[in-house]
Amino acid sequence: MADLDVAVIGAGFAGVYAVHAFRSAGLTVRAFEAGSGIGGTWFWNCYPGARCDVESKDYSYSFSPELEQDWSWSERYPAQPEVLRYLNHVAGRFGLWPDIQLDTRVTAAAWDARRSQWSVTTDDGQQRTARFLISAVGCLSAYQVPSLPGLETFAGRWYHTSRWPRDGVDFTGQRVGVIGTGSTGIQIAPEIAAVAEHLYVFQRTANFAVPNRNAPLDPDWERAFKADYRSYRKQAQESFLGVPITGTGRPALAEPPAEIQRTLMERWQAGGGMPFLGAYTDVLVDRAANEIVAEFMRDRIRETVTDPAVAGQLLPRAYPVGAKRLCQSDDYFAMFNRPNVTLADIRSAPVTAVSARGLHTAESYYELDALVFATGFDAISGALNRIDIRGAGGAALSDAWAAGPRTYLGVVPAGFPNLFVVTGPGSPSVFSNMVLSIEQHVEWIRDCVLHAVGRGHATVEAKPSAEDAWMAHVTEVAYATLFPLADSWYVGANIPGKPRVFTPYLGGVGPYRARCDAVAAAGYEGFVLG
Ligand code: NAP
Repeated sequence: MADLDVAVIGAGFAGVYAVHAFRSAGLTVRAFEAGSGIGGTWFWNCYPGARCDVESKDYSYSFSPELEQDWSWSERYPAQPEVLRYLNHVAGRFGLWPDIQLDTRVTAAAWDARRSQWSVTTDDGQQRTARFLISAVGCLSAYQVPSLPGLETFAGRWYHTSRWPRDGVDFTGQRVGVIGTGSTGIQIAPEIAAVAEHLYVFQRTANFAVPNRNAPLDPDWERAFKADYRSYRKQAQESFLGVPITGTGRPALAEPPAEIQRTLMERWQAGGGMPFLGAYTDVLVDRAANEIVAEFMRDRIRETVTDPAVAGQLLPRAYPVGAKRLCQSDDYFAMFNRPNVTLADIRSAPVTAVSARGLHTAESYYELDALVFATGFDAISGALNRIDIRGAGGAALSDAWAAGPRTYLGVVPAGFPNLFVVTGPGSPSVFSNMVLSIEQHVEWIRDCVLHAVGRGHATVEAKPSAEDAWMAHVTEVAYATLFPLADSWYVGANIPGKPRVFTPYLGGVGPYRARCDAVAAAGYEGFVLG
């Protein structure tokens, strides 16, 4: 008999909710978390400026109407410490701490076919057995530091934003380099510029960013909004992104140019990426429509950055807007008007080496006291691939995913009985409001497990043919859009040698939920219950 019904890897939003959901269903469950606190990405990414780009009213659990009513967010977009406070509140409120084991990294998990259970090994040398194994490792948790020659000789301190020192870093009076201008780099750079003697921003690819227009939440607005929270959540579940967005419903290419400018400016002034990109129906599928929106955004950079040469370097041209995750910032572009900020283009003059006192590029040398890597993640599959997971017949998950991660329905990899991946490859995951997608997945997995257990089945397996068909569908939907045109982490292009496969499901949160529900209603079609 297994020690646990369910072992969960990770205690971020997904792991915390999994503990609650399985325990409430009467199963024994334990989450193993590598960090010394819960929160996952919100625990590790405690760099200055870290803030969610989904509004707090959306980026919060919906499973408890009481929690929803009682908790008050202070801002439209919550900062990292507030998200972490929220998760700790949830863990306390629902009594989840006894089933969460901190400071414990899962290093291996092996399927024991004879006993129909997983054997889970942790870095404290312990082994636990569980009937079901749930990966809640997150899509953006395996951080990557580029291998720069000479980094080990650097006499200053260097940091990756995803392993930020918990008691902070004081950059006052220092010369600091930031490598990376994605969502993270764009958030941290203005914070460093405000205190450093000089900030050098090393940019490989210029990125698009929309304003947040972040602001404190007005208590009267909050009261009125919360009065109808339930129906808002329902709309979110049925929406495309997991956030109800009102678009014009029209293609940009059919709209008079002046009207497009008016619509985009209105949304630009209101802030937020989803309503902006969602204004027109063709922006993410038609290159010409996309270019209209891209040029609108370039105009905003031109009018913000006073030095035309710097503005020119900041204009994004390498990919269709939205095909990489759209960044959000209220102060990134204006930061380049500060006398203590220099933009260095490392596309035309790549970094060649790091030495004791600074960083060398093909054209220049920059003396630095500190270096910050905002260089992203081995996304979607990286965290699971770093665990030695062995399925049926001892096959390694990293081998099964060698040509790109695969699952049936975004949740179960074929060949790995009783293993479920929350917001796995092939699910809307990073292309949605993650908290809502996490809830949908955890509840679907819980119901599947209860279905199997209730009927006396020991195993749930995805049919390889079902996995093939699902991944073909994921690919077909993706290639009908502009997304595959960007060298993004969505396709693994940021990791040298990673196979280029587009794995998030772009079919929409609402239709995806309906598909998952239909699979369940048909007796878990595409699965073998053994
Ligand atoms: P990212 O989007 O992958 O950006 C990494 C940056 O580092 C890019 O500018 C990339 O340049 C650069 N880079 C990577 N390797 C490099 C190398 N070897 N040499 C030079 N430059 C290199 O990573 P991220 O900014 O951490 O964001 C990842 C995701 O996390 C986001 O897309 C978002 O989904 C999430 N996130 C969300 C928030 C939020 O909610 N507001 C905040 C932070 C992160 P290239 O573009 O040329 O590859």
